Amino acid sequence: MKVKDTPKHLGLRHQLAFLLEEKGIKDEAVLQAIRSVPRHLFLDSSFEAHAYQDKAFPIAASQTISQPYTVAFQSSLLQAKPGQKILEIGTGSGYQAAVLCAMQMKVYSIERQSELFKKTKVLLQKLGYKPKFLTFGDGYKGLPDYAPFDGIIVTAAAPTIPKALMAQLKVGGRMVIPVGADTQDMYVIYRKSATDFEKKTYGKFRFVPMLENKN
Ligand code: SAH
Repeated sequence: MKVKDTPKHLGLRHQLAFLLEEKGIKDEAVLQAIRSVPRHLFLDSSFEAHAYQDKAFPIAASQTISQPYTVAFQSSLLQAKPGQKILEIGTGSGYQAAVLCAMQMKVYSIERQSELFKKTKVLLQKLGYKPKFLTFGDGYKGLPDYAPFDGIIVTAAAPTIPKALMAQLKVGGRMVIPVGADTQDMYVIYRKSATDFEKKTYGKFRFVPMLENKN
């Protein structure tokens, strides 16, 4: 695999970050990550021209790389600080994971398609991103062995908010999760105490479905 980033790509990323800022993304750490992560290397090289447009795009195994705005918006909603532990459900292309790594988060991510899991693990390593833990498995279960997490980001459409994931959230932490069937409401679930969760929604989105485990 060729790993190639150029000043032209960097310029396109700056334009993309500027566009996202115009669309309402204010978090400078997120914008800086968008400027630094080479999104074109997360797409098949023949689709490079699409990489810095603000749109989702098909990747392997009938999945998609999320729209840059969605990645930036979800990353902002996490309100996480450098060094915090973040669990991602749906590694996919690895772009969202790379953005969180660029923001100095400790990233744990689960992917249920083995083909994608293997490909993305190699890609992230090649590009120099160092997530703490990538695994092939069922996101509905989370990662109880590594819990609790300061933040949880779900990048597939969940029919309901998985109980196991709520249990793995630290008190004071946030889970960002799109919930719904055809279109989803973006929920932020803030854990106020061991038993108290505050829920708010932040607009409509469209994700590929979060699927039950194959096994
Ligand atoms: N974060 C990704 C978005 C990928 S799309 C990116 O930046 O590219 C959503 C991903 O969620 C898909 O790869 C899909 O295979 C995965 N997924 C769906 N259901 C899942 C589940 N139950 N557990 C883990 N991953 C799941």
